[in-house]
Amino acid sequence: MTTPLVEMDGDEMTRILWQMIKDELLLPYIDLKTEYYDLGLAHRNETNDQVTLDSAEATKKYGVAVKCATITPNAARVKEYDLKEMWKSPNGTIRAALDGTVFRAPILIKGIMPYVHNWSKPITIARHAYGDVYKNVEIKVPGAGRAELVFTGADGEEIRETIHEFQGPGIIQGIHNTDKSITSFAKACFNYALDTKQDLWFATKDTISKKYDHNFKDIFQEIYDTQYKKKFEAAGIEYFYTLIDDAVARVIRSEGGFIWACKNYDGDVMSDMVATAYGDLSMMTSVLVSPSGVYEYEAAHGTVQRHYYKYLKGEETSTNSIATIFAWTGALRKRGELDGIAELTAFADKLERACIKTVEDGRMTKSLSLISTCRNPVILNSLEFIQAIRATFDAL
Ligand code: NAP
Ligand code: MG
Repeated sequence: MTTPLVEMDGDEMTRILWQMIKDELLLPYIDLKTEYYDLGLAHRNETNDQVTLDSAEATKKYGVAVKCATITPNAARVKEYDLKEMWKSPNGTIRAALDGTVFRAPILIKGIMPYVHNWSKPITIARHAYGDVYKNVEIKVPGAGRAELVFTGADGEEIRETIHEFQGPGIIQGIHNTDKSITSFAKACFNYALDTKQDLWFATKDTISKKYDHNFKDIFQEIYDTQYKKKFEAAGIEYFYTLIDDAVARVIRSEGGFIWACKNYDGDVMSDMVATAYGDLSMMTSVLVSPSGVYEYEAAHGTVQRHYYKYLKGEETSTNSIATIFAWTGALRKRGELDGIAELTAFADKLERACIKTVEDGRMTKSLSLISTCRNPVILNSLEFIQAIRATFDAL
């Protein structure tokens, strides 16, 4: 390696897996270079969360990061870790700093059948992570009256629309988005489609929402036509816009193998639907991509708290490390591509093949054995599974 990866360590069971992965699967094979940031909750608390901001800045500087799952504090965690404050979600902080879009894709393995039988390739969901109903303003209307939508320009000019003349109680909601955020989202999607050579689908309800959703459609189309059309044609991939209800029907009938860009709410709902339909949350990868082409790789699952408490009690755990290993291989492959180190890219590819082959050969963790069609799976504990992957890797 020539350029270091930004390494963001995390919490609980995934922190334990993190070290095992480094010791068993990375350090013996590659000259691993990282710039280490400890995003474990204790250290975030010590640094008043400065370490999270520093790790995001380092990611902008170097271009590629790999992140372990981290605790997002709630009231119980404030007590458990004696926190000075209920620190914000590190993922939210990093996403805001990088202005990034999250792409989630399942890892497909023979023997773990998607519920939708024709899905033979992964579907990657790209969720817009800003605005709409997630930044809403709501009023519970107490009784009769007029609800209005008012915009007051910086120059004092007003635009006013009647929402509804209420005859009795009801509800209203105000939502917004910005052209800047939609533009970043669109660029991240087009770049990622080119990067992974997959078609890009985008869908909204522009026939009903003739200004709001239409604005999303228009921004995507304008950016595509002026900046990406030629590149897409050269790469042999396609940008495809349709209505959200039509998209849902087509997704189910498809064989997969494309990126599905979703507005914030659609992405929230559809990513859980797609993840579940592919089989297992512990087999979902996640990558945050900024419009300027900075990448942060991680697993989609959390810190697997329940397993960690068993681990602390000295009990055996069988936690699946595949998504975390794929975070590392994703980052190493990207580093290899950017720095022109073919050996590093080849290493990442081979380690991924070793993960898949280990499970396909019938050696897996408990949760995978429950959904696998493999007849007599050998159920391994957390460390044994990583060691089994190492043995497969050595034999490849
Ligand atoms: P979780 O860590 O995703 O785990 C939920 C359950 O899913 C586990 O109890 C386990 O089920 C199963 N599971 C998830 N990953 C697994 C794996 N790799 N191998 C085997 N089983 C797995 O979610 P959580 O327990 O709700 O959240 C724990 C912490 O993670 C929270 O503090 C939350 O803030 C944080 N979190 C972080 C991120 C992130 O950093 N990206 C994302 C989500 C959540 P069984 O117990 O039934 O075996
Ligand atoms: Mg959700």
